[in-house]
Amino acid sequence: MSLFVDAHCHLDHPQFEKDMDAVIRRAKEAGVAAICTAGVHPASNRIALELAKKYPIVKACLGIYPPDALQREMYDAQWKPFDVDEEIEYIRKHKEHVAMIGEVGLDYADLASDKSAQREIFEKMIQLAEKLRKPLVVHSRKAEQECVEMLQSARTKKIIMHCFSGNFQLVKQIIDNGWFLTTPTHVVRAEHFQKIARDTPINQLLTETDAPFLSPIKEQRNEPAHVVVAVRKLAELKGMDIAEVERNIYMNFQQLI
Ligand SMILES: [Zn+2]
Repeated sequence: MSLFVDAHCHLDHPQFEKDMDAVIRRAKEAGVAAICTAGVHPASNRIALELAKKYPIVKACLGIYPPDALQREMYDAQWKPFDVDEEIEYIRKHKEHVAMIGEVGLDYADLASDKSAQREIFEKMIQLAEKLRKPLVVHSRKAEQECVEMLQSARTKKIIMHCFSGNFQLVKQIIDNGWFLTTPTHVVRAEHFQKIARDTPINQLLTETDAPFLSPIKEQRNEPAHVVVAVRKLAELKGMDIAEVERNIYMNFQQLI
């Protein structure tokens, strides 16, 4: 039995609207045992819950990504202004069906976005994860140091730094803190993630696709079945058997949720 884990993707993305059944089927055929789909705002959070209900292989991760709370996500026609506290209440109410809190974090790539407002939302999400005792799935863009600092002052240790693009001093800090780092599918061509994979102990790694983004094949839509590519590359980088990597990643995931 295969037990591959896609710890982070976005099945709510419009690119999956037309062929969701086929996407799920291909993942199962490839040996994927769990697909974590991450919400970033009310519409995507609701889709994540619906998908988890419909497909047992899908785990719902609910979050509020600060730029979404403050303005809009570029790709997303479903986005509408919303109240952060109301959405937190919604997540709390559905906690039994929520595997993780995420996608959350700080994103300073968008210069128009208010940094202190972002920090305030991120802090609320950290507290929510602690209260619900759920892992946090964190993304940081151009705010890696601040992100790590905020998380260090939190009590939770169940932290997944998804697609971490910060420097290696921060990577070392993350490893020392006992948090998790992911190996995404585009590790096949991204030297940064190859180094993270080599430096991080296998018991602190997870695999992900971030589908439909970060495809291992340029210009092509990514999907959960492709997570096998990340596992294969990880095995090569670690000098381990694929089955051994697969087992380790699955155990890490089980221990977190
Ligand atoms: Zn993501």
